[in-house]
Amino acid sequence: MIIDAHTHIFPPEVSAGKALFLQKDSWFAELYANPKARLASAEDLIASMDRNGIDISVICGFAWKDTGLIRLTNDYLADSIQKYPSRLTAFASVNPTAKGCAQEVERCAGMGFRGVGELMPAGQQYALSDSDLLRPLAEVARERKLIILTHTSEPVGHIYAGKEQVFPQELAAFLAAFPENMVIAAHWGGGLPFYHLMPEIQAIAQHCWYDCAASAYLYDSAIFSAALHCGVSPEHIVWGSDYAVISQKKMLAYLRSAALETAAQEAALGLNMQRLLTAMQS
Ligand SMILES: [Zn+2]
Repeated sequence: MIIDAHTHIFPPEVSAGKALFLQKDSWFAELYANPKARLASAEDLIASMDRNGIDISVICGFAWKDTGLIRLTNDYLADSIQKYPSRLTAFASVNPTAKGCAQEVERCAGMGFRGVGELMPAGQQYALSDSDLLRPLAEVARERKLIILTHTSEPVGHIYAGKEQVFPQELAAFLAAFPENMVIAAHWGGGLPFYHLMPEIQAIAQHCWYDCAASAYLYDSAIFSAALHCGVSPEHIVWGSDYAVISQKKMLAYLRSAALETAAQEAALGLNMQRLLTAMQS
């Protein structure tokens, strides 16, 4: 069982009119102005999954500022899971700074979505540590049993498009503020796994899973075993690619190049995400 816990797809309107959307949304421009930055469709993703032996992918859209675009994106994700119910699982795009965010999450939950995200706080100009702002979102996610996936980034190292200032300290504040929400911290939580050596961080991260999205651009693959050595539970690492920012093929090869025992590798590849999704259903 292989589950990609982190992919992005876009409605045909956005792919066809990319230039217009680059003007409309500055964060979209930050991430996708590069002509090489591909906007994939559900069909592109399914083809990639078939080529690479991937059973299921979590599909995210984009954290637009405009609520109309958020709705358009979520409608496309809803159509995609209807079309490929056994292959795709949707997470709702949201803008927590906009009115009606919780209602949009309710609407998506009603359409069978299983999570919210990827949150992109810098793009929508809020802080992940702003618990007053995020409380309504966290509450509706808890009530409707939705996982929250958030972008995070490293406070050090090279600069890249979309790096954002969502650092381990903001993630730690978010986890502490909402202990009852199940959270996936993308891109290894910006390095929070290393702080699991501190008992207080280990305690607040009990409900946090880490994905390795785009990690081949960031860390040596030794990070998998390093995270385990630091005390991250082997059940809390989920494989995610960040497709189409990076290919699923490349990210599979990256995980397989990590010196992980077979059981830990299989857990990361799919079993952990499967368990999390099942636990959220019961
Ligand atoms: Zn991200």
